[in-house]
Amino acid sequence: MPRVYYRQDACERFARKVAHGSGDECWEWQGAVRADGYGAFCVRTGNLSLAHRFGYELGRGPIAEGMTLDPLCRNRRCVRTDHLEAVTLAENKRRGMSANAINARKTHCDHGHEFSPTNTRIGQNGWRQCRMCKRLVDARARASRTPEQVQATRDYMRAYHLRRRQERPATLH
Ligand SMILES: [Zn+2]
Ligand SMILES: [Zn+2]
Repeated sequence: MPRVYYRQDACERFARKVAHGSGDECWEWQGAVRADGYGAFCVRTGNLSLAHRFGYELGRGPIAEGMTLDPLCRNRRCVRTDHLEAVTLAENKRRGMSANAINARKTHCDHGHEFSPTNTRIGQNGWRQCRMCKRLVDARARASRTPEQVQATRDYMRAYHLRRRQERPATLH
């Protein structure tokens, strides 16, 4: 995939305006935001004026003619390449009316937790997942396990790591 090269100063200016979330969180644009919610970024050369498009091109290469970017995280200020997918306008429109999109317009999960950038993770299917709910489910799963089950997992993990250590060659070339 060919990459797009922008002048160093444009890239640096861009990078300074992005708040990088940790892990799989959004990378939020901190600069000017247009009325439609998308970040605005002006490059002197070329006609790009949208922050997320600039971010995508930096990371993945040129966006093909007629393609639009769909923010899978539904966060229009997000410029993170792997949260953006290049789709045709028709596809974007279709998605806008799908069950997924209707779901995506919800600001809170079914349990009332806000889909804030830090509380939202994007699953492999592109759906938003509530971190708070995940934590609660995990905690509940842990709490409902018997001591025997906990011990069995611990034994399994120990055996696994032991096996891995034995399989690993003593010297690496
Ligand atoms: Zn995002
Ligand atoms: Zn939730």
